[in-house]
Amino acid sequence: MRPSPGLRSLARDKPPPPAPVDPVAVLRGYTGGVREQLAPGEQCEMCAVPIGPEHPHIADVPDHRLLCTCRPCYLLFNAEAASRGHYRAVPEEYRFNKDFAMSAAQWEALGIPVNLAFLFHQTDQARHVAFYPSPGGATESLLDLASWDEVVAADPLLGKLIPDVEAVLLRRLEDAFECYLVPIDSCYELVGIVRQYWEGFAGGEEVWGRIDEFFAGVKERCRG
Ligand SMILES: [Zn+2]
Ligand SMILES: [Zn+2]
Repeated sequence: MRPSPGLRSLARDKPPPPAPVDPVAVLRGYTGGVREQLAPGEQCEMCAVPIGPEHPHIADVPDHRLLCTCRPCYLLFNAEAASRGHYRAVPEEYRFNKDFAMSAAQWEALGIPVNLAFLFHQTDQARHVAFYPSPGGATESLLDLASWDEVVAADPLLGKLIPDVEAVLLRRLEDAFECYLVPIDSCYELVGIVRQYWEGFAGGEEVWGRIDEFFAGVKERCRG
């Protein structure tokens, strides 16, 4: 009889890299499936040409929706004037905010129950909104974000955030915060990981391993 590997040795093995998650698929799962007839990531939602699993996104700003697009449509809508703000291309740059400063009290005031959050400026609400990934999807903090406005006011990089399509991604570590400026679709990729792998009260070893990998990928893109 062959000895079966114990749970411990399985847990020590490096988990396989997560399959690419189309953040639009995550969003649709969460909102109950808008336009279910189109499999996200298979065709451009602007011009219907076939597209691969890795493709850029355009935000439909008034509808709070991301659209999967081909590169030519993406470039066309990248010029904001082309659509008078209705559509906005999700940027592809990742930036590490090395001078980020936030106190524990300012973090607590956001009302985020996990050590991960993403915030962005929502044009139609004319304010920042804060979300965190949870097993149920992206969950919004409904608290007043006055403390976050203080953080933004003191940080020159955060003031230049692109509304609706670029997010501040925060990870709380033992005694510090990591802060990145990222395309909003990457936040939904993180939401997808948490939704798929979170177990029990604290999430479990697997989900935190995958979250570490996600952040390693974000760091890598900041250098590139
Ligand atoms: Zn297209
Ligand atoms: Zn997509």
